[in-house]
Amino acid sequence: MKGKNIKKDPICNMDVEENNAITTECDGEIYYFCSEGCRERFLKERVCKLPRTSYDLIIIGGGPAGLTAAVYAATLKMEAFLITRDLGGQAVDSTKIENYMGFDFITGPELIEKFRYQLIGSHYIDHLMSDVEVIEPVEGGFNVTTSDLKKYFAKTLIIATGMTRRRLKVPGEEEFQRKGVFYGNVQDISLVQGEDVAVIGGGNSAMQIVENLYTVARNVYIISDTKLSADPVVIDRINRYRNAHKKGPYSAIYPIRYYEGYKVVEFSGGKTLSNVTIRKIAEKETIDLPVKGVFSP
Ligand SMILES: Cc1cc2nc3c(=O)[nH]c(=O)nc-3n(C[C@H](O)[C@H](O)[C@H](O)COP(=O)(O)OP(=O)(O)OC[C@H]3O[C@@H](n4cnc5c(N)ncnc54)[C@H](O)[C@@H]3O)c2cc1C
Repeated sequence: MKGKNIKKDPICNMDVEENNAITTECDGEIYYFCSEGCRERFLKERVCKLPRTSYDLIIIGGGPAGLTAAVYAATLKMEAFLITRDLGGQAVDSTKIENYMGFDFITGPELIEKFRYQLIGSHYIDHLMSDVEVIEPVEGGFNVTTSDLKKYFAKTLIIATGMTRRRLKVPGEEEFQRKGVFYGNVQDISLVQGEDVAVIGGGNSAMQIVENLYTVARNVYIISDTKLSADPVVIDRINRYRNAHKKGPYSAIYPIRYYEGYKVVEFSGGKTLSNVTIRKIAEKETIDLPVKGVFSP
């Protein structure tokens, strides 16, 4: 929604585009809503001044799992409330989803837009864009406290908070996310066709990424702070690629190179990533590897 005129829905905190929002005028002020449901709730709560805080069900997390639960709850007409940090979860990171029923191919953001419509357009349940910070068991259910210190009660909880990627915590990591720094994202491999790339890690997941990159990218650097820990059969396979004079357009000239016992120090570049700096553990000297993509499992 960058560059568009964005307003905040006062009920659920969702960002809404001014031109597409549902509006209402109240006490001389215009309010913008993501859906008819939020507008109705606003008008109801505006009159009674007692926002609802007790539900049969609270769903925490707005990824595919939480949103599916929310849509079911709506069809069952349950007294349900969805609290989530964002809509879509990890799917937002996916440039290409190829195994989702009903679509031969769809991008993560497109799929999320469909989820969003299904939730707030056709299967409305109360929802709030916020972080859940505390869950306490109390008599008859649970108290849930959000980051703005609001407390909600539910008889039942569905916790669908998914997972977050382990970060490397080095300078430049946040800046180049999805602009060269990718997490376990085999879908993004097409973005580095014919480019030099690095894979961070020495386990099976990292090696799987190497195998995917091998025929697509040019130089492939493996950076691992320990000796490679993948299964021997996997390492054997990588070694075979490494030593073979292969048919692929890039790999015959540009073999896979190992940097075992090295740590990543920094990501750098312009608008997108162009370099990763590494350092051998317990040594001072650093090496710059010019790369367009770095993949971490
Ligand atoms: C780059 C990438 C590409 C992928 N490609 C595919 C693919 O092609 N096909 C496929 O099937 N799968 C793919 N996946 C995996 C797929 O996205 C996940 O399996 C799916 O998103 C899991 O859904 P989930 O709802 O369980 O969790 P998540 O998607 O992780 O959602 C969790 C939700 O909980 C919220 N949350 C977390 N903590 C809190 C809190 N304390 N308070 C409030 N909210 C919270 C998050 O904000 C998020 O909305 C991909 C994943 C990634 C990262």
